[in-house]
Amino acid sequence: MDILKHKYDLLIIGGGPVGLFAAYFAGMRNADVAIVESLPQLGGQVAALFPEKNIYDLGGIPSIKAKDLIKQQLVQLEAFSPKVFLDTSVTDIANDADDDFIITTTQGEIQAKAIIIAIGNGAFAPRKLAFDYDQQLEDNGMINYFITELNQYRDKNVAIAGGGDSAIDCALALEPIAKSVTIIHRRDQFRALESSVAQMNASSVQIKTPFLLNDLRQQAQQLQIDLKKVKTTDIETLTVDKLIVNYGFTADSRILRKWDLYLNGVKVKVNTKMETSRPKVYAIGDAADYPGKMNLIATGYGEAPIAVTTALETIYPEKVQPLHSTSLFN
Ligand SMILES: Cc1cc2nc3c(=O)[nH]c(=O)nc-3n(C[C@H](O)[C@H](O)[C@H](O)COP(=O)(O)OP(=O)(O)OC[C@H]3O[C@@H](n4cnc5c(N)ncnc54)[C@H](O)[C@@H]3O)c2cc1C
Repeated sequence: MDILKHKYDLLIIGGGPVGLFAAYFAGMRNADVAIVESLPQLGGQVAALFPEKNIYDLGGIPSIKAKDLIKQQLVQLEAFSPKVFLDTSVTDIANDADDDFIITTTQGEIQAKAIIIAIGNGAFAPRKLAFDYDQQLEDNGMINYFITELNQYRDKNVAIAGGGDSAIDCALALEPIAKSVTIIHRRDQFRALESSVAQMNASSVQIKTPFLLNDLRQQAQQLQIDLKKVKTTDIETLTVDKLIVNYGFTADSRILRKWDLYLNGVKVKVNTKMETSRPKVYAIGDAADYPGKMNLIATGYGEAPIAVTTALETIYPEKVQPLHSTSLFN
């Protein structure tokens, strides 16, 4: 991606629930918006860390599964279809000659008139296997850290490494599609919902515990994985077509230190209009800090319209700002 000639009104850094809602609200305000998300999927912590958890503290919604909340947000967002850059991390922001922004990302540069930082606790990256392996195995899809398309696993022999909710969900989702599914965990107990574990135990998923992945290699079109039984020297070799590693995520917000913002620890200080210390840069959601701040989705949903409105007032001062969103549809 070369520097895009196009200059967005707003660039939202982070496609978690709060960034998504900001994009939706900005769409209601007819703003030209792009979202940059470092993961290959939208939904932030909610989709990556606790997709199966029920959320009970959103106004008007007695209970909703985290993954369904994100699904609903994506449906909501379809009304405006903002530009979305996935698998793209923002690394730097700089002002251009008009005091707008050139945003450097891992995929190239993007231009925008204002920036909303919605990066939560920072860029997520999957925890990788503890030993070195040929990167080619990731590039050719034999080792995966995300499932983007279930059909890639159809009629394949699949191994899943991990023992949490996501690993088990993944095993259960693949069981009817794949030729075989083997889950490998270093403990005998899984850290997952009892009902999911029971469902897995009753399924055809093969369970290898307590085993660690010790090494792997490509053999023709297959992957040979050496499994070491915990507290022994016993090694078994498992041959599969694909491996999915589900060891959770790490988050890193150190990048913020380079962006010339007042910080409180790893959070960006904002005022009541969600303005940071840098003109036309706003922060919302878990990334934002002010006295009394609570890291909740509902809080971020409240901050998003404030940031969007402040940004649009600043970049288009001549525009009359509507009082209520509904007045936009009348
Ligand atoms: C186990 C758990 C349970 C929770 N339960 C609840 C609950 O019941 N109710 C509730 O209200 N809240 C709950 N929370 C908190 C809630 O998840 C957060 O408040 C919410 O996710 C914040 O949303 P966000 O969009 O601000 O940030 P995030 O969800 O963290 O999303 C930020 C996104 O920004 C991306 N990003 C970061 N850095 C960059 C970069 N440099 N470039 C591009 N993209 C970047 C990240 O990859 C991520 O996708 C829970 C949190 C956890 C961990």
